[in-house]
Amino acid sequence: MPDPTFRTVLERLVNFKPGPPVRSPEGRSYPLAANESPYGPLPAVVKAIEEAALGVNRYPDNNCVELTAEISARLKVAEDEIAVGCGSVGVSQMLLEAVAEPGAEVMYAWRSFEAYPILTRLSGATPVEVPLRDGAHDLDAMAAAITDRTRLIFVCNPNNPTGSVVHAAALEAFLDRVPADCLVVIDEAYHEYVRDREVPDGLALRTDRPNVVVLRTFSKAYGLAGLRIGYVVGHRETIEAIRKAFLPFSVNGIAQAAAVAALRSEAELMARVETTTRERERVREALRALGLPVPPSEANFVWLPLGERTLDFGRHCAEAGVAIRPFAGEGARVSIGSPEENDAFLVAAAGFDNPPTSENPPTARA
Ligand code: PMP
Repeated sequence: MPDPTFRTVLERLVNFKPGPPVRSPEGRSYPLAANESPYGPLPAVVKAIEEAALGVNRYPDNNCVELTAEISARLKVAEDEIAVGCGSVGVSQMLLEAVAEPGAEVMYAWRSFEAYPILTRLSGATPVEVPLRDGAHDLDAMAAAITDRTRLIFVCNPNNPTGSVVHAAALEAFLDRVPADCLVVIDEAYHEYVRDREVPDGLALRTDRPNVVVLRTFSKAYGLAGLRIGYVVGHRETIEAIRKAFLPFSVNGIAQAAAVAALRSEAELMARVETTTRERERVREALRALGLPVPPSEANFVWLPLGERTLDFGRHCAEAGVAIRPFAGEGARVSIGSPEENDAFLVAAAGFDNPPTSENPPTARA
């Protein structure tokens, strides 16, 4: 019997295969691989989840009306300038389905968030990857790579996995060079962790630019990664188009209720974010004191450009029960967890005795 015919693009994609669970010899595990919040949901969020659970025999609100109103009130943007989706990954897929097709080009810096190439390929568009320069977006090179086929550009600010940022002046100059018919997606998944005052709030940048949208998520600072909910803010017509690509009912009612409760508990959540940003600086300083390379990060993770030493470092951490995210030959991304988790990581890092060589100096590029 012949196999079903699959799209040729699938040959370029791989199924995610989880590795063995990471555990120390004593059975401890420290999950620092996925940039999650280390804190469980607040009581008010748990209560909202419990209440929403009682209604799961019904379909969820397909328009996320209550949540959209809550976001609108907080961000001071109109409700029809907001589209909610199944995580910001789900929203990214909606964006691509709205503008990308075979023949179109989708541009992003590389290395950046791993979903960009996957979703771009699935959309049928051609990925255009512009290498980072010193671990940061090379906006000049990106502007130069724009063609009349470029339909969408992701700017991940701060960038995952390097933690680098794009400043307001540079981003505005770049946006001025992007044709009006090309959508620019400023992915601000880590926005709440930014302390560098020169980093723009994408929401301010997009008001007079109809081709700019801002992507936000409840997965990081709001601590709801497991519920899959995020949103995009943009110009009315753009949002209307994007909403057409929404997979019906893909944002469940529990996620919607939890997101509303999380927004109403913002002060407590932002206090947790403050702890994380303080921990980020502590972890970075401690790693640097160990002689490890760690550029500044404005996100809830740090980046160690370890080059060829990366996989050894990842294995070494795993043996101590610390799960991190190594990118072979490039570097390791380590999420900032609770102080206890961070300490476990720092103890592991201190025991890493694969010293830098002349081929892999500590300043190796990302
Ligand atoms: N954008 C970036 C840059 C990310 O790093 C992530 C999560 N790792 C996301 C989006 C996706 O977040 P969500 O859980 O909302 O799909």
